[in-house]
Amino acid sequence: MSVIKLMRGDITRLSVDAIVNAANPTLLGGGGVDGAIHRAAGPQLLQECQTLGGARPGEAKITHGYNLPARWVIHTVGPIYRGGESGEAETLSRCYENSLCIARSYGLRTVAFPSISTGAYRYPIEEASRVALGTIDRFLRECSYYEMEPIIVLHTEGDLQVYIENAEEMGITYEVQR
Ligand code: ADP
Repeated sequence: MSVIKLMRGDITRLSVDAIVNAANPTLLGGGGVDGAIHRAAGPQLLQECQTLGGARPGEAKITHGYNLPARWVIHTVGPIYRGGESGEAETLSRCYENSLCIARSYGLRTVAFPSISTGAYRYPIEEASRVALGTIDRFLRECSYYEMEPIIVLHTEGDLQVYIENAEEMGITYEVQR
């Protein structure tokens, strides 16, 4: 059975099959992790993104990784948090699920996620981490015939601790990579 890896770090530095970008609906770059990914990938990434026609919250689209050590970038649009009663959890869950479905359809195994929506989109990390962990764990169970190595990359030690505590509480199989 696949396990979820948790680590602290900079997602743009990982040599994995794919990294996931917490993009905005234009898919044309922005701040936070999106800006960091575009800077590290170089201008060809923006050129390819200009052909995608944007994406709605919960959707995911794939591009090449260009100058990144990762081969592919899966761009997904998280929900903006508006108090939690506007379907945010369902949308956030679809971000993880659709990204994993694309990865599987491309035959990718190591897929690194940032903590989607918990930056500029203000989703409280306590809640968002449970959605992230629960959705990835469910995908791994339902898709156990396909060996995958999902990694959640947290930008700060505090964020990593929240994910570890929730994985522990939820009884999810995880591994911390130091
Ligand atoms: P969103 O708009 O979906 O909230 P942000 O990029 O603002 O996206 O934040 C999402 C998360 O990504 C935040 O927890 C932020 O700390 C984190 N983050 C920012 N830069 C990086 C990076 N280089 N690697 C990994 N995570 C990052």
